[in-house]
Amino acid sequence: MRCALWRRRAFAAAVLALATALLGAGPGEATELVVYSSRHYGNEAAFEAFKQKTGITLKILNASDAQLFERLKAEGDKTPADVLITVDAGNLWKAGTAGLLATVDSRELQTNIPTQLRDPENRWFGLTVRARTIMYSTKRVKPEELSTYAALGDPKWKGRLCLRSSSHVYNQSLLAAMIKRHGEAKAEEMVRAWVANQPILIDGDTKILEAVAAGQCDVAVTNHYYLARLLMKDPSFPVRPFWPDQQGTGVHVNISGAGVTAHSKHKTEAIRFIEFLSTPEAQAMFAKQSQEFPANPAVAPEPLLTQWGAFKMDDLNIAAAGEFQPAAIRLADRVGYK
Ligand code: FE
Repeated sequence: MRCALWRRRAFAAAVLALATALLGAGPGEATELVVYSSRHYGNEAAFEAFKQKTGITLKILNASDAQLFERLKAEGDKTPADVLITVDAGNLWKAGTAGLLATVDSRELQTNIPTQLRDPENRWFGLTVRARTIMYSTKRVKPEELSTYAALGDPKWKGRLCLRSSSHVYNQSLLAAMIKRHGEAKAEEMVRAWVANQPILIDGDTKILEAVAAGQCDVAVTNHYYLARLLMKDPSFPVRPFWPDQQGTGVHVNISGAGVTAHSKHKTEAIRFIEFLSTPEAQAMFAKQSQEFPANPAVAPEPLLTQWGAFKMDDLNIAAAGEFQPAAIRLADRVGYK
């Protein structure tokens, strides 16, 4: 009798211990999610907070966007992946269109993430925002000399412009947004003028900013957070951002974001994970670690970024980055932008 009671108590204690260990993961819920991620920076704090909150651990597979895309396609319904995280909406769009992502009906995500930063068909959601903007040397350029992306085609910038190659998705998305906004002819005219200025092509945004600082060029286009990181290390780094097209459509922005894989076996938990990443708590962690702008407008950007002044972001739905990517690649080819 006594022995049976003891056994029952021991069993109850073991169950309680297990439940505590799982911290909120109820019966039948997954205790691990597999995340395929091409986002290499600024994830740790938010991922750890999710684990602490739910007891669900994350198994992360890091690889390039192209590798993750091919892998998900090849694995099909056998994939162990529950969540795909990528940088650049072009990559999310591609995964969504290829049928690799599930449609997610989440009021929390719809509330936390503005419409223009998520898939109109609810397959992916922006989590952080990056401005791809004009950068200038504080030693050799006055901000008054700058105005729009198109004006980088002015002959005064001949031999003074550094650009990333058109083969990189960041610039493909920029051109795609230009095509959507201004039409193919206008976008082509703009890129032709850039090419006529014989831009120095450099493979990497940080390298481009270092080239501006070193005097190899005077103006450039990069994502804002690369400059933020350089300035955190060296506040005297002689480059600043300029916010173009403020009288027009605004600064081109892109996202990093996430979607639930079409064949995830743990969709409820996968949605819970992405929902958590959209909350003010996780958004503040992303912002601090990576110096990106929070996608959730309830969270303020980091102080370093607010010092650069408020600016108008293009509110074009970022799905355009994917939709017009083929046209952007053809355009770059036509005008000889390598
Ligand atoms: Fe980046």
